[in-house]
Amino acid sequence: MRLILLGPPGAGKGTQALRLVAKYGIVQLSTGDMLRAAVKAGTPIGRQVKEIMDSGSLCPDGVVVEIVADRIAQPDARKGFILDGFPRTVPQAKALDRMLAQHGIKLDAAIELRVDEDALLKRIESRIAETKARGEALRADDNPAVLRQRLEAYRAQTAPLADYYRKKNVLRTVNGMASIADVTAAIDKALPSEPHALRAGSKKNDHASP
Ligand code: AMP
Repeated sequence: MRLILLGPPGAGKGTQALRLVAKYGIVQLSTGDMLRAAVKAGTPIGRQVKEIMDSGSLCPDGVVVEIVADRIAQPDARKGFILDGFPRTVPQAKALDRMLAQHGIKLDAAIELRVDEDALLKRIESRIAETKARGEALRADDNPAVLRQRLEAYRAQTAPLADYYRKKNVLRTVNGMASIADVTAAIDKALPSEPHALRAGSKKNDHASP
C-alpha cells in the first residue's frame, strides 16, 4: 500500500500514520522527522533548514525531494509506505510523480484529514501540555505563533494538493475532527480493498520489485 497523508499541522497525521503502519506493515516516511533528525545531527542539510523550520515556513523543495527520493529507494520501502508531511507543494507532488514512475509504482490513495482550523490551536496547546507533563522536550515549532505560520504555509502551498490528487482520482477526504478511532475507521473504509500491486490487471511493474 502506498499512501499520502494530507492535512494541516495538528490534524492527527502522525497518529493515523502509526496505525496504518501497524495495519499494513508499511513504513512511515515523515519528512518532518527526517528533517528534525538532520537538524539534531548537525548535518549540512540540518544547518540549512533549522531556522526555516523554527519559523514555521516550508523548507526548499529541492532539499525535501532529495531526502524522499533517497528514502523511497531503501529496501524497507519496497513493501509500501505512507508519506506523512510530503508532498507539501505542487512542485513536490510533481517530483513524487516522477519518482513513482521511475520505480514503476503507483499511489493507492491520498488521504486528506479535514479539520476545523480553530480547533487546531487547542489541539496543539494540549499536545504541548501533554509533552511537558511527560517531561519530554518540546518541538521548537510547537507554539501558537509558529503554528499560525505553519497553517498559513499549509493554506497557501499545501491545500491546493487536494485538487491535484482529486484530479488523479486518488483523493479520499476524511473528517479529521472525529475521535482517533473513528478517523481510523473512516480511513479504513476509504482505502481500496486491494493495493495497486495486487489488483487484477495490474501491470507486472506495479510491484515494487528490486
Ligand atoms: P511536520 O513535522 O510535518 O509538521 O514538519 C515540520 C517542519 O518541517 C515544517 O514546518 C517544515 O518547515 C518542514 N517540512 C516538513 N516536511 C516538509 C516538506 N514536505 N516540504 C517543506 N518543508 C517541510
